[in-house]
Amino acid sequence: MSEELSKKEKMAIEPQQMAERPGEERRRDFGEVNLGLTEEQAVLEAMRCLQCKNPPCVSDCPVSVNIPAFIKLVSERKFIEAAQLIREDNSLPAITGRVCPQEKQCQSRCIRAKIDSPVAIGWLERFAADYLAQHLCDIGVCKGREQSENAVKVAVVGSGPAGLACAGELGRLGYRVTVFEAFHKAGGVLVYGIPEFRLPNDIVEREVHQLRAMGVTFETNVIVGRTVKIKELMEEEDFQAVFIANGAGLPSFMGIPGENLKGVYSANEYLTRSNLMGAYDRNADTPITSGHKVCVVGGGNTAMDAVRTSIRLGAEEGHLVYRRDRDQMPARAEEIHHAEQEGVILDMLTGPIEVLSDDDGWVCGLKCNKMQLGEPDASGRCKPEVIPGSEFVIECDQVIMAIGIRANPLLTAATPELNLNGRGYIETDDSGMTSIPGVFAGGDIVRGAATVILAMGDGKAAAAHIHNYLSSKK
Ligand code: FAD
Ligand code: SF4
Repeated sequence: MSEELSKKEKMAIEPQQMAERPGEERRRDFGEVNLGLTEEQAVLEAMRCLQCKNPPCVSDCPVSVNIPAFIKLVSERKFIEAAQLIREDNSLPAITGRVCPQEKQCQSRCIRAKIDSPVAIGWLERFAADYLAQHLCDIGVCKGREQSENAVKVAVVGSGPAGLACAGELGRLGYRVTVFEAFHKAGGVLVYGIPEFRLPNDIVEREVHQLRAMGVTFETNVIVGRTVKIKELMEEEDFQAVFIANGAGLPSFMGIPGENLKGVYSANEYLTRSNLMGAYDRNADTPITSGHKVCVVGGGNTAMDAVRTSIRLGAEEGHLVYRRDRDQMPARAEEIHHAEQEGVILDMLTGPIEVLSDDDGWVCGLKCNKMQLGEPDASGRCKPEVIPGSEFVIECDQVIMAIGIRANPLLTAATPELNLNGRGYIETDDSGMTSIPGVFAGGDIVRGAATVILAMGDGKAAAAHIHNYLSSKK
C-alpha cells in the first residue's frame, strides 16, 4: 500500500501509460480512442502520488475535488470509495475524467510535474468512475426512488453538464425536477458536440439514466421560449424556480467572402448532424456530403473534433487552419496529439481571407495569408500579424468554421425581463439569480464558452442557492 512506501520508493515508480487504439486503426471509426488504465496500472499510478500536505493540485481544480484522498483510496484498491469521494464534489467524473483539460488545471500544479511527470489525475478519475459504473447495481446506486407528488417543482432549461448537475443536486434534495431540452436527446454538448471517439454517448446516457432513476423527468423536443415560456412555467405550471442552462450554441463566422458557398459548415452544425442525427449514414434524413479535402478553421476543442470527424467521415486530407502557432492552441494537448496520429495536417500561422468557389458554387479552395507572431495582445498571447505578400491557396472541397460560439438569443428574446450583458449573455448576482426572482442561470449562457467542469460547478452551486431561496420562501 502507498503509505508503506517511502518518498524515494514512490519517486521510483514509472508513470503509467494508458493504452489507446493505434491511429491507423481508429481513424475511420467512432470507437473510443483511449482504453483506460488497468487495475494494476491505476494502483501503481496512484502510488506515485506524494500525498502532499498542502496539495497544489486541488487549488487548480475548479470544483476542489479532494485529489490526494481519492488517489490514496485507489492506491488501497478501494475503487468504489474513491469514486464516491470524487462524486461528493464532481457529479460527472466519468465525463470530466475524459474531457477536462487536466494539463492546464490539476496536473499542471502537481508537484511531480516539476520533477518527472505529473500524477495522471484525470486518468485515475476516469478509472474510478468507470469502475463504479460497472459495479453500480452491486452497491445499490442504480435503484430507483419514489417521487413525491407533493414536492416543490423546479424546472431546468437545457440538459448539458450545468443542467444535469443542477437536476441531480435538486433531485437529491427532494425537489420534483423537470429538465426541458430542445433536442430529442439529453446531454447538451456532451452528446451533440463532443464525438463518441472522445466521449461515448452511453456514458452520458448512464448519467441521464441515473437522474431518471432518482425521479428527474426529462422533456425533450421542448424549446423554452418557443414551445413554452418561462413565465408560463412559473405561473401556469407551478414551477417555483427555474435554472436556465441553455448553453451558448450560436456559431460565429469570420465574415470573409465565400462563407455562404455550398460546402461551408459551422462546426456546430457539422458535429450535431454527425453525432446526433447519424448524418454519416447516406440513408439518413440529412446526410453530410463527405469532403475529400477538408479545411477546419480554428484551434480549440471544437475545431479538433470537427477535423477528426471529417477524417472518420472519409476525407483523404483533413487540415486544421489556425492563425497562431501550436503552443497557443486552446485545444487539449491530448486531442492535438491524437489528431496528428490520425493524420490531421496542422497548418499553423495561417489566416484565411476568402473561401473560393468553382463554377457551380461549391467550395474549391481556401485563400490564406501566412502569419507571424507580433507583440502580446490584450489576452496576453502574441498577436498574429499578416506577412505581406504571402497569400496562398489550400485546395479543398469543404470548409468548417470552428472559431467560437455566441449566446443563442432565442430564449432571452422571448424573456425580455432577463438582464443581459453587452454580448447577450445572462447576468446573474452572486447567488446565480437573474433579474427575475426565482430564475437562476449558469454554464456557458452566463460565462460564455467555457468548460464542462465549470458548467457543472455552476449547476451544483445553483442547486444550493435554489434550495436556500425556496426554503426562505416557506
Ligand atoms: P450545453 O452543454 O451547451 O447544453 C445546453 C443545452 O441546452 C443543449 O442541450 C441545448 O440543446 C439546450 N437548449 C438550448 N436552448 C434551449 C431552449 N431554448 N430550450 C430548451 N433547451 C435548450 N469542454 C471541456 O471541458 N472539455 C472538452 O473537451 C470540450 N470539448 C468541446 C467540444 C465541442 C465540440 C464543444 C462545442 C464544446 C466543448 N467543450 C469542452 C465546452 C463544453 O462542452 C461546454 O462549456 C459545456 O458543455 C457547457 O455546458 P452547458 O450546460 O452550459 O451548455
Ligand atoms: Fe499527489 Fe501531485 Fe496532488 Fe501532490 S500535487 S497530492 S503528488 S496529485
